[in-house]
Amino acid sequence: MIIGKSQKEIEKMRASGQLVGQVLRKLGAMVEPGLTTIEVDAAAEKMICDAGAYPTFKGYNGFPFSICASVNEQVVHGFPSSYELQEGDIFSIDVGVTLDGFVGDTAATIPVGTVSDDRLKLIQVTAECLQLAIEQCRAGNHLGDIGWAVQSHAEAHGYSVVRDYVGHGIGRRMHEDPQIPNYGKPGKGPKIKNGYVFAVEPMINLGVQQTKTLKDGWTVVTIDGQPSAHAEHTIAITEQGPEVLTLVKAGAPQFELAGVP
Ligand code: MG
Repeated sequence: MIIGKSQKEIEKMRASGQLVGQVLRKLGAMVEPGLTTIEVDAAAEKMICDAGAYPTFKGYNGFPFSICASVNEQVVHGFPSSYELQEGDIFSIDVGVTLDGFVGDTAATIPVGTVSDDRLKLIQVTAECLQLAIEQCRAGNHLGDIGWAVQSHAEAHGYSVVRDYVGHGIGRRMHEDPQIPNYGKPGKGPKIKNGYVFAVEPMINLGVQQTKTLKDGWTVVTIDGQPSAHAEHTIAITEQGPEVLTLVKAGAPQFELAGVP
């Protein structure tokens, strides 16, 4: 069942969205060759807890960290580790916060130093897929419109869309109904209504769409070892159209977030 949100609840999700958006922006600015992904995790946890929130991922179905850190061929759910980021890597940071009972969830793929043109383009097209998907997050549209926006753009560039993992409704819980695939047919699937809040998150592969999970039980990688990019926003469907809750807004209250602990 899709749980529509009241104005009051969306107001709270604005706050959790702004917090997690600001955290992701700070983390992205830290990224440089030599930084370990566990340092990024520690910084995220400190910022989130200092802001009076909880890092939603930590303990979620037993996930042991505050961020998912997915490098290169890792698609999603990568474990932060002592791995030192290298020039040319692409690094997906996925982070969630629970503030005042509501979750915000966002992700971006960051180039580490100078990266190859094909990797940079993969990141850019993935971000474009997310923007096109957001445009479809309007009352009266269908979930298939969101999926088609992602799929058609990715495939037009010769990329493939991950099928094994999807976006989701979000609210008091990180994963609510409905599932939001990054593929689909225009005009198909459940109708979108005002008050719905979605986490839309295209995962786009340079090579084939298929993935597998590593022995840690979490880290998802492409089966062909080719790079993958990921981008995510939390979006409220409002009468005025899509409102990207996790997009940092200039006028919004700024959280005081320290950097590396
Ligand atoms: Mg998500």
